[in-house]
Amino acid sequence: MTTYQISTELITNKKEKTPADQLGFGQVFTDHMFVMDYVEGQGWVNPTITAYAPIELSPAAMVFHYGQAVFEGLKAYLTEDGEVQLFRPDRNFKRLNDSNKRLCIPAIDEELALNALKELIRVDRDWVPSAPGTSLYIRPFIIATEPYLGVNPAKNYKFMIILSPVGSYYKEGINPVKILVEQHYVRAVVGGTGEAKTAGNYASSLKGSELAAQQGYSQTLWLDGKENKYVEEVGSMNIFFKIDGKVITPALNGSILPGITRDSMIQVLKSKNIPVEERAIAFEEVLTAAKNGTLEEVFGTGTAAVISPVGELKWLDEIIAINDGQIGEVTQMLYDTLLGIQYGTLEDPFGWTI
Ligand code: PMP
Repeated sequence: MTTYQISTELITNKKEKTPADQLGFGQVFTDHMFVMDYVEGQGWVNPTITAYAPIELSPAAMVFHYGQAVFEGLKAYLTEDGEVQLFRPDRNFKRLNDSNKRLCIPAIDEELALNALKELIRVDRDWVPSAPGTSLYIRPFIIATEPYLGVNPAKNYKFMIILSPVGSYYKEGINPVKILVEQHYVRAVVGGTGEAKTAGNYASSLKGSELAAQQGYSQTLWLDGKENKYVEEVGSMNIFFKIDGKVITPALNGSILPGITRDSMIQVLKSKNIPVEERAIAFEEVLTAAKNGTLEEVFGTGTAAVISPVGELKWLDEIIAINDGQIGEVTQMLYDTLLGIQYGTLEDPFGWTI
């Protein structure tokens, strides 16, 4: 039984909408947001939908100093029948609580969070864009707000959800990307925070991305932080390789973010009887497969890009071209299946959409 009441303070003067062809990623925000506070001794209080507006924080708010911040990313899609669909949102709130646990942030009520999200989208429903490939990006996040400079878990937090209409990730069609295998920097280590979705992981990934961009590569392929040998993730996506008919993705070893797209793709592959393995993959194995002609496809998976085919990998001075820069059969099938389910043009045999 739910015992909470979400209060709603609606605005009357709505903002003007940005035309769909001018929507990028995460630059435009809707009219409302959801806010709830954590107060030590009281728990999470005052769940409210209110006007999207700046918030006031003390310069000593702990999030600014020690990075106690976690977040999520998911999307709402407009179907052809004019319904708004969410894709496995329960998994995002569960993962948010897993991240909370790692960062010593008090757990949220996942059911309340999902209801708050549904209510917020109902209120800002006219912001869900309708042009092909567009969607409403959803950013739930929690920050430590207590003004205190001691290194401790904070006593006060804010949980917020903001919404941002986003353009199509693939304006010019789905094109294979070029990826640089990072040799010097690492994203995460086992025992660190790699499997949590926390702000610091993204701050520490920027340098590698910057260096990759300088060489004309769009993302970084991260290797493990201990031996610099095993493949972990690519940019902010999980990675898959198709080698000799088998699809292989790194096992969730503690330093990899458990992607919801990753999990969904594994289930789709299994349902189609395509062999899929979750295990450690040394980059050497990928290199060997490329040399003996068995590296058939490489792709990343994540909420933003859905599926991103990889056309080229650069490792030291070696350039590995994959599938002649073409989109592989399995990559295309997964892309079509997932998009079809998300936008409601295909049946959802998995019960993923809400
Ligand atoms: N890895 C990282 C580091 C990410 O930031 C993301 C995006 N959330 C992913 C993988 C993919 O996760 P998901 O499929 O849940 O979007």
